[in-house]
Amino acid sequence: MPLPPDYHMHTPLCRHASGEPVDYARRALEVSLSEIGFSDHSPMRQDDFDDWRMRNDQLDEYVEKVRKAQRDFPQLTIRLALEVDYLPGHEDWIRDLAARHPWDYFIGSVHYVTDSWAVDSPAKLKEWATRDVFGVWSVYFERLTKAAETGLFEVIGHADLPKKFRYRPTRDCTPLYETFLTAAKKNNCAIELNTAGLRKDCKEIYPSREILQIAFQKGVPITFGSDAHAPEEVGMNFADAVQLAQAVGYKECWRLVGRRREVTKF
Ligand SMILES: [Zn+2]
Ligand SMILES: [Zn+2]
Repeated sequence: MPLPPDYHMHTPLCRHASGEPVDYARRALEVSLSEIGFSDHSPMRQDDFDDWRMRNDQLDEYVEKVRKAQRDFPQLTIRLALEVDYLPGHEDWIRDLAARHPWDYFIGSVHYVTDSWAVDSPAKLKEWATRDVFGVWSVYFERLTKAAETGLFEVIGHADLPKKFRYRPTRDCTPLYETFLTAAKKNNCAIELNTAGLRKDCKEIYPSREILQIAFQKGVPITFGSDAHAPEEVGMNFADAVQLAQAVGYKECWRLVGRRREVTKF
């Protein structure tokens, strides 16, 4: 079986990734991928919101970088996408972004649980020690649920990102997962198996097997992503991700073309 598409990778425009899209494309062919998608961190309406994404005036440059990779590697299918931060109240901005280019898909990701704290930020790691861990996870999954309900995203990114630094609640989170995954199913929204978690302190794919099991029971579709921030990370640990997906029962994932969903086997 061919490897599933790698739909999550970045470019230097986000200021914390290295290598040009052409380098990612070359690597994709080396690891026998036949389809990839660039989904760099989208700009915020305010460029000074934080310092780990492209600016508004770089969006055209981003698209041109991806187009160049498409021209240089015609033997590889390359999709144009964004990883869009979901914060409540940003819906109109996300619709504005959607209208600016012919995107193949949007990954909706929650990093921020307040307007100033991204739970995965190494610079803000100390924040965790001041917070109730279950409280953070609750807000995180509430925002993830809202993101799915907006209908603005084909895919929800790294669904249990708060585990990155191993701050895990002792309380049972199953009801949080259930609510989120019910919303994902109802709104025809996939979740991604994101292998970047294996490269972080949590040493585990996002999301956990437990969440993926509930997702499968509810019929929530999946995609795959390496979340590569460097060319050598493209397709990384995809065999593990495929194995995990198959172990809970998945045989199919989505391909995304012009914001339409297609089912494919892996
Ligand atoms: Zn990033
Ligand atoms: Zn992310």
